[in-house]
Amino acid sequence: MSATKYIFVTGGVTSSLGKGIVAASLAKLLQARGFSVTIQKFDPYLNIDPGTLNPYEHGECYVTDDGAETDLDLGHYERFLSTPTSQANNVTTGRIYNTVITKERQGAFLGKTVQIVPHITDEIKRNIQLLGESGKYDIVITEIGGCVGDIESLPFLEAVRQFRWEMGPTETLVIHLTLVPYLNAAKELKTKPTQHSVKQLSETGIHPDILVCRTEHPLPPELRKKIALFCNVNINSVIESIDAETIYDVPLLMKKEKLDERVLAKLKLPNKSEPDLETWKVFLGKLKNPLSEINIALVGKYVELPDAYKSISEAFIHAGAMNECKVKIRWISSEQLQKDSVQQFLGFADGILVAPGFGERGLEGKIAAVQFARENNIPFFGICLGMQCAVIEFARNVLGYKDASSTEMNKETSHPVINMMESQKDVTMKGGTMRLGAYPCELVKGSKAHAIYGKSKIMERHRHRYEFNNKYLKQYEKEGMLATGINPETKLVEIVELRDHPFFIGSQFHPELKSTVENPHPIFVKFVKAANDFAKGKK
Ligand code: GLN
Repeated sequence: MSATKYIFVTGGVTSSLGKGIVAASLAKLLQARGFSVTIQKFDPYLNIDPGTLNPYEHGECYVTDDGAETDLDLGHYERFLSTPTSQANNVTTGRIYNTVITKERQGAFLGKTVQIVPHITDEIKRNIQLLGESGKYDIVITEIGGCVGDIESLPFLEAVRQFRWEMGPTETLVIHLTLVPYLNAAKELKTKPTQHSVKQLSETGIHPDILVCRTEHPLPPELRKKIALFCNVNINSVIESIDAETIYDVPLLMKKEKLDERVLAKLKLPNKSEPDLETWKVFLGKLKNPLSEINIALVGKYVELPDAYKSISEAFIHAGAMNECKVKIRWISSEQLQKDSVQQFLGFADGILVAPGFGERGLEGKIAAVQFARENNIPFFGICLGMQCAVIEFARNVLGYKDASSTEMNKETSHPVINMMESQKDVTMKGGTMRLGAYPCELVKGSKAHAIYGKSKIMERHRHRYEFNNKYLKQYEKEGMLATGINPETKLVEIVELRDHPFFIGSQFHPELKSTVENPHPIFVKFVKAANDFAKGKK
């Protein structure tokens, strides 16, 4: 195939219609037909990236191999496609403006007035083409965040309009996602919001090729006809996107609606064979027919908003299916956990996961959860701050250093078992300055970590400023907490495990970021297995 084709996904009526999932599902279908596909997301806010956003604002910050702090939709893209994304896959308005303004200061536009059109729109178009120009992809799907009609989205839509005009009709395609609400009182599905949304999009000079209509009820043929007529699209380009039991059903639902076939026809791409979705279907079969069930306590401080731990809950879905086991997650706020109430809050758990996080709030509750898991032989998994809590707990209750802590929480501690990394000490800027992205790690032969991965060399993704203080390593190992994953260059401790415990692992990295439907992460798979064994033992 010659040049890359470009698909744009826009949204209207309301946010949270699942643009990211529809984009990922379409990409999956095209990938399963043998095309190489990637997805990028444009976010219309002014932060350079979501790294500085509170999880309550924007959900989890997803980190890529190249160390970009990105939108959580990129997690969906990777989980569906099993191919890595990068900084080029997530661009914000802030990043676009930053590049243009930096160029202005460098004199790149000397003599010219710098404007939204053409300078900002040109920079957006450059970013649209960046992935295509890499030569790696047959198709690039670009999801435009926000809704049509938002002031912030206008430059992106104008760039898309220009890009389509420049590329010609069969090289690009626009899919618009809207809502078809059901009015209970009238017992009717309503098309007016969709009509208005398409009208609004058309005002920007973009006419959608395909409409994906989010609905709680099936769209009857006469309603599809009405939408087609009033929105000026072909009737078979009105695609129903009905609420699904799981997001992983959506590729199959989109296939049933022939979304992929419509796309191929419009882009004049060959439609040679059916998509190969065998592995996907096996996964779904296992997901929906579990043989057992476990209860996992997820201890964190952002528990009111499960999106803050999106990749962790998805990794549990992948690992649960692999084990044919339903994983029920109970979200436990670390702030409510006290030493004397742990039994009451965590007594139900077949496995305890202490989540990543920042700052002092809820720290003591997390440490109490670690102690409960360690002393009661409950399978335990600590991620990033969760691993650091395991290290602190061990120092306080096994090594006897009562005020041991991380210098993030207590600068005055006499035992800084978690300390700021040397490389971080002179860092003053906040955005994009943590230890970010993929780093190598070597696993100690004979360790649990090595058995879990089944190999010695791994690459995992990081997002932190603090580390295990190697000054204490000998004491830890003597008392039974072993460092079994080490960065070969810096000697940073990346994994700790307990010698005398059925399953107690802490990782400084974030394994959840690399778990996909087709490649569930081995630590999650083995953690679920251990929790399943623990549950069976209780009966
Ligand atoms: N706050 C800790 C650090 O910066 C842990 C970060 C995390 O859990 N992602 O090291």
